[in-house]
Amino acid sequence: MLVLVDLTRLERIGAHSHIRGLGLDEQLEPKPTGQGMVGQLRARKAAGVILRMIRSGKIAGRSILMAGAPGTGKTAIALGIAQELGADVPFTMLAASEIFSMEMSKTEALTQALRRSIGIRIKEETELIEGEVVEIQVDRSVTGTGNKTGKLTLKTTDMETIYDLGTKMIDSLSKEKVTAGDVVTIDKATGRITKLGRSHLYARDYDASGAETKYVKCPEGELQKRREVVHTVSMHEIDVINSRTQGFLALFSGDTGEIKPEVREQINQKIADWREEGKAEIVPGVLFIDEVHMLDIECFSFLNRALEDAFAPVVIMASNRGQARIRGTNYQSPHGVPLDMLDRVLIISTCPYSENEIGEILRIRCDEEDVAIQADARDLLTKIGSETSLRYAMQLITAAHLVARKRKSDKVEMADVQRVYQLFLDEKRSVEYVRAHQEEFLF
Ligand code: ATP
Repeated sequence: MLVLVDLTRLERIGAHSHIRGLGLDEQLEPKPTGQGMVGQLRARKAAGVILRMIRSGKIAGRSILMAGAPGTGKTAIALGIAQELGADVPFTMLAASEIFSMEMSKTEALTQALRRSIGIRIKEETELIEGEVVEIQVDRSVTGTGNKTGKLTLKTTDMETIYDLGTKMIDSLSKEKVTAGDVVTIDKATGRITKLGRSHLYARDYDASGAETKYVKCPEGELQKRREVVHTVSMHEIDVINSRTQGFLALFSGDTGEIKPEVREQINQKIADWREEGKAEIVPGVLFIDEVHMLDIECFSFLNRALEDAFAPVVIMASNRGQARIRGTNYQSPHGVPLDMLDRVLIISTCPYSENEIGEILRIRCDEEDVAIQADARDLLTKIGSETSLRYAMQLITAAHLVARKRKSDKVEMADVQRVYQLFLDEKRSVEYVRAHQEEFLF
C-alpha cells in the first residue's frame, strides 16, 4: 500500500504531470489556458493542425520539428499531442543521446524506437457465449462528440433482442423517436437525446481480459451475430515476442538486444496478410526525439529513409539549438539538422513566455504539487522565473515547500523562497561563481 502511494506521488510531481492535453476548443483553437497548458498559442494551434492530420492519417512520411529556446514548452506540447491521441495510439519518447548509449547499433536503436511507435490493432472474431453481459452504446467516434450514452446491461446472446432492447432504451430516454439508421448523442447527465442523422448503434462489452468486444451493425440496421475482440500492440512488441533469441520476457526487462532483420521481414509480411484479410489495422503513432541535434549524419539519413516507409510513425523532433554543427560532419546547419531533413519537416517554433504566463504556469505547478503559497511569495517566484528560467523557478517550488515544512508551516512564504534562492544557484549565478573561483576548480 505504501509503495503505491509513493509511486502515485512520484508520478504526480513529474515535470510535465500537469499537462493533460493541448487545451484546444472544439474548433481546435487554443484556449488561453486549458488542460494545464498556458499561452504559446501559435505553437499549440499548429500542434492542433498536426493532431488533425495524425487523426485523419494524412501525415505519414512527414515529420515535425519543435524549435525554440530551452524551457519554452517543446516537450510539453509533444506530450499534449500524445494525451490528445489517447492511450490506443503509441507514443514513444527518446532523447537522441540515448541512441548512443544503448548496447546496440544506433540504427537498430532507431528501428526499435520507430517500431515501438507503430500500433497494430488486431481484431479477432469469436462466437458469443450464452449469458454474456452486453452494453448498448452509441459510437462516440462516429458522432464525433464526447457524449456518453445510456447503458443497458442484459444477459442474452440473441442479437434481435439486444438490438431491439437497445433501441427501446434509447427511445424511452428520448422525446424523439429514434429508429435504426439514426445517429444520436445522449447527454449523460440529463439523458437528453439529440438526433443527428444516420445511426451507428452498436453493442459492446468487455471480456475478462478487459479487451473490448464490439457488435457491428450491418447495413440493414441489425447487429451482426459476431463478436470482435480488439487488442492493440506495438510492432516492436510483436518483434520481441517472435524473436527466438529474446522471448517475451525481454519486454519486461527492457533488455531486448538486436532483433534479426529476417524476423522483422516475416512479421511485416504477416501483418500485411492480416491487413489484407481485414484482421489487423495499422495505427501510426508518434516518436518524439528530444535534443535532436545529438543525432549524427548517419542517423539522419537512416531516419530520412525510414520516413518513406508505408508504416512510418509521425516523428516529432525537438531542438533548442540555433545554428549548430551536424554531428559526424564539419557542416553547420540550423538546429544541427541536415538540410535534406529540414526540407521535409514542418517546423513549429515556440517563443519565450511573458511574466504573466510564467506566473500562471507556476500557479498550476503549485496546485499540481499541492503546495500552498502566499501571493507575495508566488509573485517573487514569478519574478525569479522571468529573470532566470521557468524551469529553475519550478524547481524552487518543491524546495521552498520543504523549507516551509521544516518550520512546521504548510504554506510557503516569501522568506522560504528567498532562502532556497540563496541555497540553489540558477545557471547565471553558477557561471559567475565558477568564473570567480576558477583557480579552485580542476581542469
Ligand atoms: P528544452 O529545450 O530545455 O528541452 P522544452 O522546450 O522542451 O525545453 P519543457 O520541458 O516542455 O521545455 O518546459 C519546461 C517546463 O515548463 C516543463 O515542466 C513544462 O511542463 C512546463 N511548460 C512549458 N511550457 C508550458 C506551457 N505552455 N504550459 C504549461 N506548462 C508549460
